[in-house]
Amino acid sequence: MAATRTFSIIKPDATRRNLTGAVTAKLEEAGLRVVASKRIQMTREQAEGFYGVHRERPFFNDLVSFMISGPVVVQVLEGENAVLRNREIMGATNPSDAADGTIRKLFAESIEANSVHGSDSDENAAIEIAYFFTPEELVG
Ligand code: ATP
Ligand code: MG
Repeated sequence: MAATRTFSIIKPDATRRNLTGAVTAKLEEAGLRVVASKRIQMTREQAEGFYGVHRERPFFNDLVSFMISGPVVVQVLEGENAVLRNREIMGATNPSDAADGTIRKLFAESIEANSVHGSDSDENAAIEIAYFFTPEELVG
């Protein structure tokens, strides 16, 4: 099966605790390859646009404030079934529901400060990659 791509964010709770390498190691151990990566400080407008689907949810404003509370690392990951593989290694949204060995079980602080984002479909992966990266930044 051909390799596909997904989009990942190492969230501010993880960058704050110096876990960029530890999280990335879990992704690589899961068979995913980091084909693009950059550390950025998101603006409020960028975070609101990124999480636009959640605009009506009660946690939206808190989530946006959390996502701009410190730097994040945005990444493009490549591998077989990349979207699903990444969701598996991330674990459930709420760390108390996450399976042993997953990134969120190991590192997440709360349902909000849950260390990583991962795209939930191939279609959204393409949209999210294009939101943060130019084609020239995807060097493989
Ligand atoms: P992500 O989209 O970040 O990969 P997810 O797909 O597991 O996570 P979503 O339902 O898309 O979860 O929610 C997006 C993010 O919003 C979550 O990762 C979490 O940071 C936050 N969030 C979700 N549900 C809640 C909640 N009930 N209370 C507070 N924050 C929440
Ligand atoms: Mg999601």
